[in-house]
Amino acid sequence: MISSVVYTFDPAHKPVHTAKPGETLVFETKDCFSNEITREDQLTTGFNYYHANPAAGPVFVEGAEIGDILVARIDKIEVGDSGVVTTLPDVGPLIDQSEIRTKILPIKNGKTVFNGLELPINPMVGVIGVAPAKEPVACGFPGSHGGNLDSKLSVAGATMYFPVRAPGALFQLGDLHAVMGDGELCGTGLEVPGTVTVTIRLIKNTPLEWPVLENDEKWFSFASDLDYTKALVAATRQTANLVSKVYGWDMTDTFFYLSLWGDIEVNQACQPCPVPMVLRVGAPKNPDKPLIVG
Ligand code: CA
Ligand code: ZN
Repeated sequence: MISSVVYTFDPAHKPVHTAKPGETLVFETKDCFSNEITREDQLTTGFNYYHANPAAGPVFVEGAEIGDILVARIDKIEVGDSGVVTTLPDVGPLIDQSEIRTKILPIKNGKTVFNGLELPINPMVGVIGVAPAKEPVACGFPGSHGGNLDSKLSVAGATMYFPVRAPGALFQLGDLHAVMGDGELCGTGLEVPGTVTVTIRLIKNTPLEWPVLENDEKWFSFASDLDYTKALVAATRQTANLVSKVYGWDMTDTFFYLSLWGDIEVNQACQPCPVPMVLRVGAPKNPDKPLIVG
């Protein structure tokens, strides 16, 4: 069980575990507030983005070298029996009409209860990734290394691909949400501690710029930026490059294909927010044409 936490993705972190490709790992994670909010009178007024979203790890993966892809299949996510949702100062499109408030919601039998409404949960991993090449990145922020990607598709059964930028990859994860809508409008999901089972493997010497998520329906590239256009261009270009290579199409045909059958979806976009938005551009899954092989 990997449970010691860090608050940054950093190539200088000491690994807490060494894993072999093919190994299944279990991470025990705290919620994004380090499990410190246990009562509804605890408010996020002094919220610190640099001391949030603790990630468990990092794990050194034997044989992982710069230029490889680390593959992480999420096998299972188990969440605690209650979660926290809060507003955050200056975050989200309704914050000027809202107060800073904390709600603690119960979780039982795959459901939670909000103001008397029973709603299904969809446990997901908010923070997941590998060390960046040089400067550390706080776990509260997303980037091409992964980090706070906040995708409601990062669920059991999904496979994620990350570009290895430091020896051993230094894989880590945390910030589980029992449920979260696309966009994470108020800046938090239903924040929960829990455990995540992940099986890792390596694809040697294969270029990748941004994280990829594969599920039963699609292949998505994730990209982040404070500016929507920049995130859109980055995610679209990566998905397009993968499609064009595998299908043998030029960029114009690839552009048509993605316009007709691809989708732009949003992970986290609770603007205004100091954290860059994250979006995803997905291409349909075709069993004969995997976009990443290995
Ligand atoms: Ca998050
Ligand atoms: Zn979170």
